[in-house]
Amino acid sequence: MENSLLSVRHLQKFFPVRKGVFRKVVAQVKAVDDVSFDIAPSETLGLVGESGCGKTTVGRSLLRLIEPTSGSVTFDGQDVLEAGGAQLRAMRRNMQIIFQDPYASLNPRMSVADIIGEGLKVHGIIRKRKEMEERVEQLLEKVKLDPVYINRYPHEFSGGQRQRIGIARALSLDPKFIVCDEAVSALDVSIQAQIINLLVGLREELGLAFLFVAHDLSVVEHISHRVAVMYLGKIVELAPTRELFTNPKHPYTQSLLSAVPRANPGAARNRTVLKGDVPSPIAPPPGCPFHTRCPVVMPHCKTEVPPLKKSGPGHTYTCHLDG
Ligand code: SF4
Repeated sequence: MENSLLSVRHLQKFFPVRKGVFRKVVAQVKAVDDVSFDIAPSETLGLVGESGCGKTTVGRSLLRLIEPTSGSVTFDGQDVLEAGGAQLRAMRRNMQIIFQDPYASLNPRMSVADIIGEGLKVHGIIRKRKEMEERVEQLLEKVKLDPVYINRYPHEFSGGQRQRIGIARALSLDPKFIVCDEAVSALDVSIQAQIINLLVGLREELGLAFLFVAHDLSVVEHISHRVAVMYLGKIVELAPTRELFTNPKHPYTQSLLSAVPRANPGAARNRTVLKGDVPSPIAPPPGCPFHTRCPVVMPHCKTEVPPLKKSGPGHTYTCHLDG
């Protein structure tokens, strides 16, 4: 991608499995294995897959909340994985995260003013309390919360309101990029829609780019410009959103899509229920990692790694089948 804000290449994150008195490393959990993608300024990339597929690890690795094992991450022309000290702190101002559980991610003993203003203090942007409170009031208005709530505590808010506080906190340092880590997954469907609409509005207003991590394709459909589907630590398909929803190529994407309820029941697809569980990322299956559950598996899928194929502009997938 020519004008990429974030560029991820061959990202890997392996977690060692230790055993015995000497905590010897006996295996590796391959949580993320050779993941590459780009995100343009003001673009939203949806990242979707079942729980344990590695999508959350990808999001956290980009911000170095988890240190990746190998690969490269370039943000705004700078090498994120090589950055240290002041350079990393400056980068983190521009790269923020919104977590899944807004209650667990907000300190219950801190007021809304302190939660949202914390970053401003830590980065030395605002030192006077009065100025900080004025800025927090502006941020509350941006996320459509009444500024009169500024001195309240997290337990006084609903789940949706708490997530708005989490969003205000992420916005406090004027970032260019935000990882939304299952940011709406814990909320009721009607509240999910409100938060997604809020994020879309903020993206338009502030020119934000998002990596929107979710386990449900229907959640990412309305916010994402493009969608990447992950299975067992790898991206198996990546395409512009409309293209992915109307012309999915990978059997895994097809099965996920078959579970998405459509507004027009006449257009409903036959539901494909996958057999078995996701294999262990400690010992992924050889050949195509999806072969143990694929409804159209062929003999050579069990031994040969599928190639990366192109299907139209910006549409790639890994499968032995031809589209
Ligand atoms: Fe299914 Fe084979 Fe394609 Fe893998 S490579 S998704 S097993 S058809």
